[in-house]
Amino acid sequence: MLDYECCICKDTVSAVSSAVSLDPCALILVSNIDQPREGQKEQQFFCHFECFRRLVNNDGIMYIMELDAATIGEIERDEENWSEDEGRA
Ligand SMILES: [Zn+2]
Repeated sequence: MLDYECCICKDTVSAVSSAVSLDPCALILVSNIDQPREGQKEQQFFCHFECFRRLVNNDGIMYIMELDAATIGEIERDEENWSEDEGRA
C-alpha cells in the first residue's frame, strides 16, 4: 500500500485510515482564487491533519475535527434531498 509524504513535517503519512484519525489528508492549493474557475490552477499535497491544524489554527478546534461534521457524501445527499423537495413544491 502506498504511503504519502507530509508536505509540512516531511514524515510519512500512513495510507491506512482509521475511525479515530482524519489521516491521510490532502491539501488542494488553488491559484488565482480571485479569477474565474476556468483560469485557476490546482495542485494537491498530502499532510498529517495534526500538522496542518497546528500550522493554520494555533491549536484551536477546526469543525472538521468534530465527530458529527458531515462527510462530502452526507452533504451531497442533503443537497439531493433539498432539490427533490424543491421539485415537489
Ligand atoms: Zn506531518
